[in-house]
Amino acid sequence: MSRASKLSRPIPLRVPSIMATVRCPVCERTFEPEQSSALPFCSERCRQVDLGRWLDERYGMPYEREDTQPERPQDDL
Ligand SMILES: [Zn+2]
Repeated sequence: MSRASKLSRPIPLRVPSIMATVRCPVCERTFEPEQSSALPFCSERCRQVDLGRWLDERYGMPYEREDTQPERPQDDL
């Protein structure tokens, strides 16, 4: 009648891969490169955002103008 009461729980070998994280330059979110297919961005969407931003800057157009409400055309009599 001998019960081994030795608590020797095995430590799970699950080391977080902190070194393998990349920060998205668009949304500044930290993610793993393996989870993204649009590096160095976290997603394809952020990639498009960055591309659009770059194009807007090139053409001198304001960024993200879709959200803003259009001004009333005063030229219309
Ligand atoms: Zn992102």
